[in-house]
Amino acid sequence: MTSLDSRKSSPRKVVLTAFGTRPELIKLGPVLAEIETRADLFQTVNVNSGQHADLLVPFVKLFGTRIDHDLQVMRPNQPLNLLFAKILNAIDPLLESSQPDVVLVQGDTTTAAAVALAAFQRRIPVAHVEAGLRTNDPLSPFPEEMNRRVITRLARWHFAGTKNHVRTLRNEGVSRADIFLTGNPVVDALNGIGRAECSPALQELLNRTAGLKRIAFTSHRRENFGSRLEENLRVVRRFVERHADTAVLFPMHPNPVVRATAHAVLAGVDRVHLLEPLDYVDFIRLLSESWLIASDSGGVQEEAPSLGKHLLILRESTERQEVLETGLAQLAGTPELFSEMLHSHYWNNVIAVPTKNPFGDGRAAPRIARILQRVLTLEPAPAKQVMA
Ligand code: UDP
Repeated sequence: MTSLDSRKSSPRKVVLTAFGTRPELIKLGPVLAEIETRADLFQTVNVNSGQHADLLVPFVKLFGTRIDHDLQVMRPNQPLNLLFAKILNAIDPLLESSQPDVVLVQGDTTTAAAVALAAFQRRIPVAHVEAGLRTNDPLSPFPEEMNRRVITRLARWHFAGTKNHVRTLRNEGVSRADIFLTGNPVVDALNGIGRAECSPALQELLNRTAGLKRIAFTSHRRENFGSRLEENLRVVRRFVERHADTAVLFPMHPNPVVRATAHAVLAGVDRVHLLEPLDYVDFIRLLSESWLIASDSGGVQEEAPSLGKHLLILRESTERQEVLETGLAQLAGTPELFSEMLHSHYWNNVIAVPTKNPFGDGRAAPRIARILQRVLTLEPAPAKQVMA
């Protein structure tokens, strides 16, 4: 029994949630926790594809996420098509055995796209968290921009973080009735960690770099691999060598290309700290204690405005236009531009500017849980169901 019509008539609705990477769990963790508080209404089946195996561990702990199935699909350097096929293959029996009423995916990863396709082929409705992001360049970010578009076509319900993302979905022909403006649950996650204490190791590094202008740097996007990543790292190196009052803290993504390039260009440079990936509390603390952030990450673009931090986005385009509108972020898509912007920030004395986060108010998770409750049980619509 897999079709919508023939699904069993259990009083509890089965929500199968699939994730595999760090950003997916950061954004789905609060949603899952919220859904699980409604255990009388929902039964959850939580599936980790294993796309980011070890990287996920501290996040599973932080959100207290129960993993029911681990698909363990990751192998070093495997082609995207093989990864996609393995996820499709491994999720299908779970869809058959658990008969979910809805499959919940987030964002734009290979896990999200493969699971959404598998659910669609079994006629199980898909709900998409963080819907409507677009750079409009199919190759950037790669392959995520195409994954997002594909998921939009496959999904039944779309949870958008901002009005802009609602508009994008409408322009692509998605029915207004199927789009919900919820805010992005990354703000829920960020608020959730509150003033949690960072690790002694990070505290020690903060002490050692006290008084210096700290630059938090991350880079892991495929489209930056090669000469772009190398050149950006050379820019960092020259900048730090020239300015004795600066320090760079670079939590490296485990991707071997990132690590090899970082070591080749930056190892042994004074005041450059190459770090292992940080857990969420430490990473957010690092951002908070930084003078400037330079990153090609998607999630960091949402976190920087909450922290009032200036951000140089190491990309040519962004699917998060809203962060540019805060005035805190600028696109630094080429190494030349990155270098220019670093230097102009240096002379212009960057200061933190607390601002309202355009990505949400920290209540996306309860909204999503309530909307799922309504669409799955067909309760009447509440008077106000979207973000103010
Ligand atoms: N992050 C983290 N520790 C790190 C680096 C990043 O917790 O060492 C978090 C960061 O706060 C953000 C998310 O991971 O929310 C971003 O993940 P990533 O940059 O890998 O993916 P993207 O958001 O670009 O898809």
